[in-house]
Amino acid sequence: MRRPFIVGNWKMNKTASEAAAFIRDLRERLPASPNADVVLAPPFTALESARSALGPSSWISLGAQNVHWEAQGAFTGEVSAPMLRDLGCRYVIVGHSERRTLFCERDEDIRKKIRAALMHGLSPILCVGESLAEREAGQTESVITTQLTGSLAGLTTENLATVTIAYEPVWAIGTGRAATTEQAVAVHRSIRLFVETGWDSQTASTIRILYGGSVTPQNIESLLAPDAIDGALVGGACLNLDSFATIVRIAQTQRA
Ligand code: PEP
Repeated sequence: MRRPFIVGNWKMNKTASEAAAFIRDLRERLPASPNADVVLAPPFTALESARSALGPSSWISLGAQNVHWEAQGAFTGEVSAPMLRDLGCRYVIVGHSERRTLFCERDEDIRKKIRAALMHGLSPILCVGESLAEREAGQTESVITTQLTGSLAGLTTENLATVTIAYEPVWAIGTGRAATTEQAVAVHRSIRLFVETGWDSQTASTIRILYGGSVTPQNIESLLAPDAIDGALVGGACLNLDSFATIVRIAQTQRA
C-alpha cells in the first residue's frame, strides 16, 4: 500500500518569521499521524526557521524547491544538495513548470539535479506536465514521456525507490482549473506504465505519483479517491492554514 503524500510548495512566499509562525499554528492544528507523509517546501531563506519550528523529531518533513547539481563552487545564487541536507531537508522539488518556463530548465538539467539529490540523500519530487496547447494537440502522453525519459534516464531501481513523480498539468497550476479526477488518473496510469516498462513492476507499484494543479479542500477528496493518485503537490492552498490543514486531514483519514 502506498502511503498518501501531501507536499506544500510555498513558492516565493513567507519570510522566515512568517514561516515559523505558520508552522507553529499548523502543528497545533494537525495531530501527528502515521497515515500520510507531509512535506513543507518553504523558500531557501525560511528553511532554518521552518526546521526549528518543526522541532527535532517532527512527523512533517522539510523540502526545498530547487537544487543545483554541483556540490559547491562558483555558481552565484545557487544552493547545493549538501547545503539542503545540512539544513534538515529530506526532499527537493525538481522540474517544476515555473522552473522550466521562467528559468529555462531543460530535462537534462533536471536529470543532473535528480542525480545530485540522490547522491546526497535527498528524495527528489519530479514534476512533469503538459501545457494547454500540448493537451489540445493530443500530445499529453508524448510530452510527459519525453520529460520522464530525459529526467530519469540511467537511474537504477534503488534510485527510483526514493523518487516521487508529480503530474502537474501546466494549465491547472494556479488557475483554479484543476484536472478532473479522470484526466489525472489517465496520466497517472501512463506514468506508472512508463516506470514498469523502463524498470520493473515492483518499482511501478511502489513509486508514488502525486497530482498537482489547483488542489483545494473541496477537490482533494475526489482526487484521492482512485488508487492511481497517491497524494497532492499543493501550491496556493498550502499558504492558508485552514486550507492546508483540511487537505492534510483528508489525506490522513481517507485511506486509513
Ligand atoms: C504548484 O505550483 O505546484 C501548484 C500545484 O500550484 P497550485 O496548487 O496553486 O495550482
